[in-house]
Amino acid sequence: MIRFYAALWAGKCAKLGSVILRKLLKKEGTNLPGQVALKICPDFIDRVKKPETVIAVTGTNGKTTLTNIIADLLTKNGYRILSNRLGSNINSGIATALLNGVSLFGREKYKTAVLEVDERSAFRVFPYIHPSYVVVTNLLRDSCRRNAHPHYIFNIINNALPDDVTLVLNADDLISSKLKENNPHVYYGIGKQPWDHTECRNLLNDMQICPVCQGLIQYEYSRYNHIGRAKCPSCGFEAPKADYLAGLMDYEKMTMPVATPYGEETYPMISDSIFNLYNEMAAIAFCRAFGIEYQPLKKSLETTHVIESRYRKVTEDGVDIVTNMAKGQIAPAVTVAFEYAASRPGEKELVVMLDDFRDAAVTVENTAYLYDVDFEFFNQPNVSRIVVQGDRSRDYLLRCLLAGIPEEKLRCVDQLSEIPDQLALKKGTSVYILHDSYQVTVKDELVEALRKKIRERAKA
Ligand SMILES: [Zn+2]
Repeated sequence: MIRFYAALWAGKCAKLGSVILRKLLKKEGTNLPGQVALKICPDFIDRVKKPETVIAVTGTNGKTTLTNIIADLLTKNGYRILSNRLGSNINSGIATALLNGVSLFGREKYKTAVLEVDERSAFRVFPYIHPSYVVVTNLLRDSCRRNAHPHYIFNIINNALPDDVTLVLNADDLISSKLKENNPHVYYGIGKQPWDHTECRNLLNDMQICPVCQGLIQYEYSRYNHIGRAKCPSCGFEAPKADYLAGLMDYEKMTMPVATPYGEETYPMISDSIFNLYNEMAAIAFCRAFGIEYQPLKKSLETTHVIESRYRKVTEDGVDIVTNMAKGQIAPAVTVAFEYAASRPGEKELVVMLDDFRDAAVTVENTAYLYDVDFEFFNQPNVSRIVVQGDRSRDYLLRCLLAGIPEEKLRCVDQLSEIPDQLALKKGTSVYILHDSYQVTVKDELVEALRKKIRERAKA
C-alpha cells in the first residue's frame, strides 16, 4: 500500500515536472509519470483504481484512429472519457493515463476509459485493466523485427484476454476474428462491393491455407492482404457472420446501409478509404452494442472526421506535389501508400525514401520486408519515373527491377539534393514522395526544393 501511494505521488510529481518541461522546452508530454510509477510499484496498473468501464482498442493497423473515433462518439453522447490518445499505447502510457484518472488519494475521476493498447503489450496490460470491451481492428503482418508474425501476435492477445470480456471483432479478418472463441462477441464487416476483387492482389496474404485441414482458402471478396470474406471449400472453415454488416456503399451521397440486429440502419461514411470504413464499422458495432441508439449515433457520425495527416498535397505551377507516409519495415503499410500513389489518374513521377537515415544502433540491416511490399503496382505506363534515394537505395532499385519496371524509368541517388534534377516536373503531372515516418522534415525540405525548381523554370 505504501509502495502504491509512493508510486502514485511520484508519478503525479513527474506529471507536474513534465508539464513544466513542456511549457519551458515546448516538448510533447511523455510516458514519464507512468514510467516512474511502474518503477516504484511494478503492479501499479493492477493496483490503481480504474474507471468502472474500460474499453480497449488493439490490433495492427488503425488503433489510434479507432480509439479517437470511439472516444469522440462517446463524448458526443454525454460520456466523460479518460483516454491515452495523447500518450503512448504501451504499459507506461497506460499507467500514465490511469494516473491522470485518479486523485491524489487514489480516487477515480472518470467512469469510462477508452484506451489504445499496443498488441505486444497485451500481456502487461489486459490482465490488469479488466476491460469490459476490447475492440480489435485487424491482425496483419507488421515489422518482423518487432512483431514476428500475425499468428504470434494472435497468441499474445488471446492468452492475455480475460474470459469475460466482450470482443468486438472484424469478421472480414480470418485471423483476429478467431480470438477467444468462447467469449461474448460482436462482429462487424463490410459486404461485397462492385469494385471488389475475388483474389488477393498483394504479395502478402497470411491466410492462404486452412488452419484446420490445410486446404486452399477461397476468397469471395478480397480487400487487402488477407482481409475479405473467405472460406475453406474442403472443410467449411470460415470467419463468423458479421452482426453489423455494411451493404452497398454510396460514394456520391457518402452513405452506407448497415444490417444490424435491430434492422437496417443508414450511416454517413466518414471517409472514402476502405481502412477507415472498417474503423467506422468497428465503432458502429461497438457503440450499438454499448447501448447508444441509432439516431444519436448517426447524428454523431455526421460530425466525425478522420484526419488524413499522413497525406499532404501542394500545387506549384500546374505540378501536384503529394507527400504520403510509407512506414518502412511494415510491408502492408508501405504497400497501401504505393497502391494509393499508383492508382491516382494521370502521369506521375515517384520518389521512394523508406527506412533509412536512422543511426545503426536502432535500425536493422534486414531488408527482407521489401520483398513483401508490392513494388509491382508501380509497373504501369503512367508512372514515368521512379527515383529511389538513401543509404539503401540500391536495395530499392533491385526490388524495382525484380518488379519488372523498365530500367530507363529508374534513377538511384544517394543524397536528397540530387532528387530534383532527376525529375521532369512537367505541367499537368504529379510527383508522389513516399517517405518514412521519421523523415517529416526531410520530406518538407524536398517539397521546398521541388517548388523552387518549378518556380525558377516558370520565370526563365
Ligand atoms: Zn479446411
